[in-house]
Amino acid sequence: SGFKTYTDHYGHIIDRRQKTVVRRQKTEDRSQRIVDEVILTVMRAPRSYTKEDIVEINCHSGIAPLKKILDLALHNGARLAEPGEFTKRAFLNGRIDILQAESVLEVIRAKTDLSLRAAMNNLEGLFSKKINDIRHGLIGVLAHIEACIDFSEEGDMRARRKDILNRVKHLRKDIERLISRADEGKILRQGIKTVICGSPNVGKSSLMNALVKESRAIVTHIPGTTRDTIEEVVNMNGIPVVLVDTAGIIDTTHPIEKEGVRRSHFSLQKADLVLFVLDYGRRINKNDMDIVRNIRDREIIIVVNKIDLKKRIDIDMIKRAFPKRPLVYISAINLSGIDKLEKMIRGIIFKGRVPTADFASVSNDRQLDILLRTIEDVREATDALRKKVSMELVAIYVRSSIETLGMITGHTITEEALDRIFSEFCIGK
Ligand code: GDP
Repeated sequence: SGFKTYTDHYGHIIDRRQKTVVRRQKTEDRSQRIVDEVILTVMRAPRSYTKEDIVEINCHSGIAPLKKILDLALHNGARLAEPGEFTKRAFLNGRIDILQAESVLEVIRAKTDLSLRAAMNNLEGLFSKKINDIRHGLIGVLAHIEACIDFSEEGDMRARRKDILNRVKHLRKDIERLISRADEGKILRQGIKTVICGSPNVGKSSLMNALVKESRAIVTHIPGTTRDTIEEVVNMNGIPVVLVDTAGIIDTTHPIEKEGVRRSHFSLQKADLVLFVLDYGRRINKNDMDIVRNIRDREIIIVVNKIDLKKRIDIDMIKRAFPKRPLVYISAINLSGIDKLEKMIRGIIFKGRVPTADFASVSNDRQLDILLRTIEDVREATDALRKKVSMELVAIYVRSSIETLGMITGHTITEEALDRIFSEFCIGK
């Protein structure tokens, strides 16, 4: 309790509970009571992660010392933190807002440099500032509207209405801009789910390996061995691409295979992009055509594998089934065409744009949902202003938009929403 803030202290964690045992044994060996040699860091309120007094113990991070020190702390009256409790306290104590709390999670989960940069921008408050600027703009508009209502006899009402309309239009554009780039922000953080599907033995696992460039998915020539789905994250120009290798989709009665096929269908439904793999050296069969029916309305790339073999595939059948869809020939075994496929994936994800992290962006569905609800109110307000509906009604829409937008940063947020956000954290963050 006497240590100054932001100081480190060398020492030992001693288990006093063992003292009596040691005495009874009449051994004076102090080392038996020492749990670990540690460094203690003291951070006093308000300059700490949670704005409260914090002590951190740095020990040798093996399971045994960690567990023992934790047990001791619990024995002496501490309790385990809930998931995200430290970050939640930082929010409740006003050090960060909800957007920043969410970006702590993004920083931890960031898979590429670009994802990390985007997350750090939000943690530093770039997005919060943008949202607060818009919110303050709306509050300003509301003040003008209320002045209009209170002093409706004075001044040129038409000019005042026009001025308010212009301000609202301006703010509306700002919100729309954020919404239009939401996809990019989400992709940067969460990655793009790319499912590799196709009949058994066409080379799905081999393609996954080629893309991952290390052999982790099982490659074998016995059909149906990839029974479960396997996920890998690869870094394509800073974009995390989550590759999912599915079980070969076949009509089967085998219970384990059936489960694998069920999971394949499930991941197909959640895919942002589907790589449909076909075998260059084999004729199209009924199974391939069944899959075609399954993925017809998805974003797909047709990947014709095994071009090192003699051509047997009737490619026109596929082209007819998928007119104007991108198609690439590859050999997963000797890695030809993989570059071209990667370029195609990037092109589809970013529609030709170069990905960048240097903008304030939406990073999850919660934030996007709030923006979409806010814009609805703002649009209603614009319509009401244009149609010269009473100012009281316009005020209702604007007030509602301020309330809704405030949920993004946590100005207005329910206990339930808070719990949902922090439940995604791991313990100790
Ligand atoms: P999956 O069942 O679709 O996942 O297919 P696998 O990746 O397990 O591959 C099935 C078989 O095809 C294996 O024997 C692979 O070595 C072989 N294979 C995969 N890609 C190629 C390729 O480009 N050329 C040739 N000749 N064989 C390949």
